[in-house]
Amino acid sequence: MSFQIRIADITAEPLAISEPLSRAWLDEVLSGQNPTGFFSAEEEQRAIGSVWRSGLDLVLRLDFGLRLQAECALCLQRFELEVPVRFDMTLVPQPEAVAPPPEEVELSREDLEREFYTGEFLPLEDLVRQQILLSLPMVARCREDCRGLCPGCGADLNRETCSCARSKEESAFRVLRGMLEK
Ligand SMILES: [Zn+2]
Ligand SMILES: [Zn+2]
Repeated sequence: MSFQIRIADITAEPLAISEPLSRAWLDEVLSGQNPTGFFSAEEEQRAIGSVWRSGLDLVLRLDFGLRLQAECALCLQRFELEVPVRFDMTLVPQPEAVAPPPEEVELSREDLEREFYTGEFLPLEDLVRQQILLSLPMVARCREDCRGLCPGCGADLNRETCSCARSKEESAFRVLRGMLEK
């Protein structure tokens, strides 16, 4: 993985980006970055996009999908997840080094982001890493209505009904009956 795009080579004509993302690189990016989810890459993928110049600014557009393995936060089953990574970003030249550093801008999901660039190369690796992390869902769920695991016995409630649920209903019924009998 090179991610080496020389800023001097970027013109008003969009320059196609097609960078292989190795499993090792993806797993490093994905590891431990999301507190509630668990994601991994099973195969090499590719970051697709383009970059062009608009005056002094550079516009970076990425638009690709990541096929990941995820662990459902509710039932802990692994499932395949397609994560779209789509964004446009404007990079403006870094102000002179003597100027005070720009205030830390909090990362957001806004379509149009503003970043600074400096030096000889486009910081493509960092930008792709950042956008992959922003694109991951906060909570990975195998499906919208996943019923998760029983907190009592750990049974996968998508596949079976455990006796905990039933005994809870029974005891609620007993309480209700007790009240009615009084
Ligand atoms: Zn699930
Ligand atoms: Zn149970």
